[in-house]
Amino acid sequence: MSPTSIAIVGFGKIARDQHVPALHDNTAFSLDAVASRNASLEGVAHFRDIQTLLDERPDIQAVSLCAPPQVRYRQACAAIAAGKHVMLEKPPGATLSEVEDLRAQAERAGVTLFATWHSRYAAAVAQARDWLRERHVTAVDVQWKEDVRRWHPGQEWIWEAGGLGVFDPGINALSIITAILPEAFFLTQGELEVPANRQGPIAATLAFSDRRGAAIRAEFDWRQTGPQTWDIHVETDAGPLALTQGGSCLRIGDEIVLEGDDVEYPGLYARFAELIARGESDVDVAPLRHVADAFLLGKRVEVEAFHE
Ligand code: NAP
Repeated sequence: MSPTSIAIVGFGKIARDQHVPALHDNTAFSLDAVASRNASLEGVAHFRDIQTLLDERPDIQAVSLCAPPQVRYRQACAAIAAGKHVMLEKPPGATLSEVEDLRAQAERAGVTLFATWHSRYAAAVAQARDWLRERHVTAVDVQWKEDVRRWHPGQEWIWEAGGLGVFDPGINALSIITAILPEAFFLTQGELEVPANRQGPIAATLAFSDRRGAAIRAEFDWRQTGPQTWDIHVETDAGPLALTQGGSCLRIGDEIVLEGDDVEYPGLYARFAELIARGESDVDVAPLRHVADAFLLGKRVEVEAFHE
């Protein structure tokens, strides 16, 4: 089968760091174009924006949308209207309603829509989910703490409305726990620490519960310097499980059962190829719904202004 001709739209940090290498290694795709206002990739056709790309390259079959979430909906609408398969970086949109609308548009147009959650493809997540499936979870502790100056230098959109603030990384933890925990869970309390000069929170403390009363806590913080923490600890009736290093390392009880490599984006593109081949879509808004709930129910506390 000939490879699916794909274009990346919004050629920034994640496109360069992850999408290009993952596409390079996947024979199901051929990266044939980039649409980005200020950036290009040597040896690949360049267009200023998605509409110009769609107008001038009808042969492109799929697009991977890697711009910030505030412009995702507009770009996805244009791509679906042109009959392209669409992969959405996380979060899939700025609101839940627009993602639902995209899902309906894709279905009507008969194209694949894939709302990606890259952390779900971390090496140990599937094994953690399988082990927890038969267990009774009693408590969960999520610690997702990183240095915003190190990972998001100069990114203004991330602090603006729709940029999610610390939920931009925090949603990755939520994407993992929504995938591995056997019961649905709901926010009961939250506190969002918002710098005086920003729209988005710099830290959040969340308490969730499930139908059986499990205590699920999450702490997201962007002020952590030194070692970075992306860890999930789960207590069960069969002992503890720890999913650490962003989901790549799994410990069950005292035994380290898996220490994997970074396989997230290769996994995403393998899944996108599979969805296209089957004529299916994959749009799960659960992580974004929890973030929306945090903004609905969480108390806001003003903290000191944040400067780069
Ligand atoms: P970024 O580098 O700040 O932005 C990506 C590119 O999008 C920019 O370089 C810019 O390219 C384009 N863009 C920015 N604002 C735009 C606008 N208003 N209209 C059209 N295009 C615009 O961001 P990123 O870190 O790559 O993140 C992009 C998405 O990937 C986010 O949703 C993020 O959550 C997700 N993500 C990021 C990471 C990470 O480590 N950074 C990891 C996983 C997922 P031009 O100026 O050339 O148009």
